[in-house]
Amino acid sequence: MQLKEWVTSIQHVSQDEKIHRKAENLLLKMNDDRSSEEEWYALAESIADDMKEIEALRDVAAGGHQLPPLPYQYEALEPYISKEIMYLHHQKHHQSYVDGLNEAELALKKARRTNDFKMIKHWERELAFHGAGHYLHCIFWFSMGPSGKRKPTGQLLRLIEHSFDSYEAFKSQFSAAAKQVEGVGWAILVWAPRSHRLEILQAERHQFLSQWDVIPLLALDVWEHAYYLQYRNEKAQYVDRWWNVVDWREPEARLKQAQQVKWTPF
Ligand code: MN
Repeated sequence: MQLKEWVTSIQHVSQDEKIHRKAENLLLKMNDDRSSEEEWYALAESIADDMKEIEALRDVAAGGHQLPPLPYQYEALEPYISKEIMYLHHQKHHQSYVDGLNEAELALKKARRTNDFKMIKHWERELAFHGAGHYLHCIFWFSMGPSGKRKPTGQLLRLIEHSFDSYEAFKSQFSAAAKQVEGVGWAILVWAPRSHRLEILQAERHQFLSQWDVIPLLALDVWEHAYYLQYRNEKAQYVDRWWNVVDWREPEARLKQAQQVKWTPF
């Protein structure tokens, strides 16, 4: 009877039409003597798969970020990284990025609603600082583990060899980049969709280069060389008039490609 309760509750809660139909079908089958238990559980499994897929595609609302649970215990990376570091790093540091990002997103939402952008610089900085912190830590935690694959294979290995000549050379460059980050920051392996290659970047602190883990769609150059000859110190006028020459076909095309990348939401 547990299965029946589960399906019924899904039918009540799920907004998804496909899941609804499958749940209805399963309930019918459960009342049908010709249908086997095996058949029921196969259907239930396919409903569970659909639910997982929907969960992976859900958006994170403004102010709705959450600390992802670690996929292993705090002591799991010992002796290389102590339990105490892992606990503080995840529970305190990462949590504060999540809180700061949520606060910035809600403050910007309020600014849009009230059309009051006096604090835009402050909140954009907070958005970048905490957003970069949250997104990068999500990558960091899930790229480690007590047991796991210690060397890439397949497509990623071939790309590393193509981009850096060899896996050993990649490791040397990545380690050197990490050791020589000025002050605090990160070493990051990235895929460059423009050059179709991998690259290693240093992020000093991490907010200077945006949130990371995001894909630009529309960009406005406000370096002086972009407007000074014509607008002199009237940067605001340049920005306002720039909207007359925007062609949204490029951002639209970029969005279509970029939306193929969707990580598990946190
Ligand atoms: Mn950290």
